[in-house]
Amino acid sequence: MSENVRVRFAPSPTGPLHMGGVRTALYNYLFAKKHNGTFVLRIEDTDQTRYVANAEQYIIDSLEWCNIPFDEGPGKNEKYGPYRQSERKHLYKQYADELLEKGWAYYAFDTAEELDAHRKDHEANGKTFIYNWHNREKGRLVNSLVLSKDEVQQRIANGDKYVVRFKTPQDETLILEDEVRGTIKIDTNTLDDKVLFKSDGMPTYHLANIVDDHLMKISHVIRGEEWLPSLPLHTLLYKAFEWEAPKFAHLSLILKPVGKGKLSKRDGDKLGFPVFPLEYTNEKSGDVSRGYKEDGYFAEAFINLLALLGWNPGTEQELFSLEELTQAFDLTRVSKSGAKFSPDKAKWFNQQYLQQKSAEELTELFLPILTRQGIETDKNYVQNVVALVKERANFVNDLTELSGFFFSNPTEYDPKATKKQWKENTGELMTELIAVVEGIEDFSIENAQAEIKGWITSKEIGFGKVMQPLRLSLVGKLAGPDLFEIMMMIGKETTIQRIQNAIASLSNA
Ligand code: GLU
Repeated sequence: MSENVRVRFAPSPTGPLHMGGVRTALYNYLFAKKHNGTFVLRIEDTDQTRYVANAEQYIIDSLEWCNIPFDEGPGKNEKYGPYRQSERKHLYKQYADELLEKGWAYYAFDTAEELDAHRKDHEANGKTFIYNWHNREKGRLVNSLVLSKDEVQQRIANGDKYVVRFKTPQDETLILEDEVRGTIKIDTNTLDDKVLFKSDGMPTYHLANIVDDHLMKISHVIRGEEWLPSLPLHTLLYKAFEWEAPKFAHLSLILKPVGKGKLSKRDGDKLGFPVFPLEYTNEKSGDVSRGYKEDGYFAEAFINLLALLGWNPGTEQELFSLEELTQAFDLTRVSKSGAKFSPDKAKWFNQQYLQQKSAEELTELFLPILTRQGIETDKNYVQNVVALVKERANFVNDLTELSGFFFSNPTEYDPKATKKQWKENTGELMTELIAVVEGIEDFSIENAQAEIKGWITSKEIGFGKVMQPLRLSLVGKLAGPDLFEIMMMIGKETTIQRIQNAIASLSNA
């Protein structure tokens, strides 16, 4: 790509960033990095009624956790700053004025009540009210297209409330290009004259967005498909300003795991998975929403699974580092249709990343969890434990459940397994086993295995008759890694102790 690639992620700080928003940020980031471009963060906070104070920081923290930092944005390389629209207020009026002068926009003085009445009137006749070429000059609507210049000046001088509306051209077919969707044709007669600016001095999203993309020299706009209906207006605005338009790419939605429609927080609550990258506390209600980070996802796994929700590399490969994603990412492989989210697949991604980590790395992550549980133990011991159990873990937290018996004696025994495996004569057998274990001088895996198996064979009973009760004794349930590995880890004394405990609890019960 010869031009200078500059992309932006332009969230409105209205609450926690949904994972769909993170995906938009990620695709922007990948596209920028692939083309040695710049990834800009712009905070679109013109709508003060929906503003939430902790949302901007949440967005920044989320990008940081995902390891997709912005190159320019609030407080960072402010080359084209400020990057908060609320701090750019003074900029927009001149652009609204420019459109008014060029005849691409007009003042409208209709009050909310008047517009409401028009809407109701139309509805009563089975029609929909659209403010556009149909009615804007018919005399029922109050705007500068029908009022005299003096009258308009008078109203503004009087402090009458007004809006500036875009004057959508009549009878034109717009040919729009989208990098994901291809060519889209739109008849301008179907569009309404959107509000661009209000008498309180604030621009609307449309004006601020276009002006900022232009001033910030944005080359590609990559955003969610909910903005596709704005594309005709945005294209017309570039034409009106006589500015070169950026290229556009609209990303399809992330869909619910079951049923139809957009993945929502409610789906996450119902099916038990997060939809936000980080835990979020609602400032007003105090409600806490879970986050991928706090649920134990590795940021790399989260990014990987998001990348593949709506993009495919064209190969079977599913696991990608951020670096590999940057190399492979391509807008032409972004899907036109929505991508169904699968919570199981999300877990699978995390499991894959966990398995790639060494026992040493996992131990570093697991030690603080053990400390929180009051378990202070030797790091080497923990590392050996982790090596034995990690293959069954999807999350670091799973290690707790998988390894508890390495740190303390079982205090209870799985009742179902007990019923099935601990028979009348099991206590006697286990007492004999204690003597066998005691007699193993050199307590190594090979020796223990040879002695115990030799003894079982000599007794001419099935291995299960001993090994299953032994597992119950050492683990408390019929799970866990190889029994002889467990015995080596906990040692001869503890092995004997646990068999005694089991006999005491299960044979005398
Ligand atoms: N502020 C818009 C949003 O919240 C940005 C849309 C765009 O990227 O143009 O998603």
